[in-house]
Amino acid sequence: MSTPCTRGGRPDSPRRFPFRLRAVSATAPEPGTAADSSTGRRKPNRRPGSNTPFFVNSRTRRPRSGGRARPAGEGPTTVSEAEHNSVPDAIELTPESIAAQIAADEARITFAQLDLDPRLLASVIAAGYEYPTPIQRDAIPLALRGSDIIGLAQTGTGKTAAFTLPLISRLLDGPKRTRALVLTPTRELALQVEESVRKYARGTGIEVAPIFGGVPYEPQETALRRGVDIVVATPGRLLDHLEKQNMVPDDLEVLVLDEADRMLDMGFAPQINRVVEQIPKYRQTLLFSATMPPEVEALARKYLRRPIVVQVGRRSSAAVTVAHAVYPVPAEKKVDLLVHLLRRPEMDSVLVFTRTKHGADKVVRNLEKNSIAATAMHADKTQPQRIKALEGFRDGSIRVLVATDIAQRGLDINGISHVINYDVPQQAEDYVHRIGRTGRAAASGDAVTFMAPDEIAMVRTIERVIGQQIPRVSVPGYDFGTG
Ligand code: AMP
Repeated sequence: MSTPCTRGGRPDSPRRFPFRLRAVSATAPEPGTAADSSTGRRKPNRRPGSNTPFFVNSRTRRPRSGGRARPAGEGPTTVSEAEHNSVPDAIELTPESIAAQIAADEARITFAQLDLDPRLLASVIAAGYEYPTPIQRDAIPLALRGSDIIGLAQTGTGKTAAFTLPLISRLLDGPKRTRALVLTPTRELALQVEESVRKYARGTGIEVAPIFGGVPYEPQETALRRGVDIVVATPGRLLDHLEKQNMVPDDLEVLVLDEADRMLDMGFAPQINRVVEQIPKYRQTLLFSATMPPEVEALARKYLRRPIVVQVGRRSSAAVTVAHAVYPVPAEKKVDLLVHLLRRPEMDSVLVFTRTKHGADKVVRNLEKNSIAATAMHADKTQPQRIKALEGFRDGSIRVLVATDIAQRGLDINGISHVINYDVPQQAEDYVHRIGRTGRAAASGDAVTFMAPDEIAMVRTIERVIGQQIPRVSVPGYDFGTG
């Protein structure tokens, strides 16, 4: 493989400009954001007496009385809860990033301009999408041309449609054989990719089968032997089927490695290698990853041919529309604070993360004691239990889902209003992925992290990695002072 070249739709692609502060999409505004509802191009404001422009959008926070944006490097200030809930934050961007933002706004195109088959265009419209997200805008034309792609994008950016739409397009009206394989790290993600394929391929005759462990082999075997167009699989169970020759990979033309970093984190490298070795070399390979550690780079070098890198936002950057906050709270008051927050009417779909399975069960028990219905989701739950929890959360019958990091990536649920990190994540990357559950492509949400005294150092590490300070919010009666 040759060295990946980085290019996309525009010569002045914004990925070249490191954004120092958060909150404005690195490229075109996402559908439904404040930028989107404006007249199109956003003009930088200027502070009195300053040449440094700044953007303010509806989700952002700005000091109220003649305050200024806090420069990067200054310590976080603590604001009161009321202030946090009412005041937008200030956003400061570099002149280069503003130029990039304007260029991106001008480059905004519609789905109709992406050369998608009319049937796919109809599905996209039926899904209610108005404009492609940046990753879709950049990746779809390249994928339709048959290029190998490295898509650096996290969940919430619209990455699934960025690969499923060109995938389906390629298979339309072709022979009935298994021609595409999507590898995913978790069964939840496999199910979500399957759902996307079904949604976009409606009426085209394209068939998809999800393949993952923890459920009986027979229905999967039947589907594979019958011959579906697209297989979406976790690596371990797929290998079992390949070994039993339930699936013959000889006709595969497209391979997608979705959330490659996550698959490697979960120790799937040997299984991925064994699967890919069996797939024809002359194929199109699309690799999507939220991050690009050396292991993913090595994987790309091994399996992709002259890949083009399409990058959305800064690596490791937190989802752009999310408002973050850290709530300092003594460990023994976390349950009470959670109950206090969950009593708010705007908390209508809340994903709570705990570090351990035991912790998740305990939080659920404590919430139930306070008459708040909640459901736990973690590795000890059976597959049917997990699917039920996910469906309940998705259809709104479960308002509070308490999960360990197992649920961290695979979840694609529209309309999560809040993510609450009951425990501070142990890895900064996990913070980014967890809060990626909210602030989805067309939504905005809040990400709240409870910080006990022994978690302060971890929060600082996260702030260093994401390159921004997270505002502290003090809730009287629950903060350190009242421990
Ligand atoms: P993903 O990053 O693939 O997990 O997608 C995140 C969410 O964004 C999913 O719920 C999609 O249905 C939604 N989505 C994807 N593309 C668009 C778009 N162009 N406009 C609005 N929403 C979208």
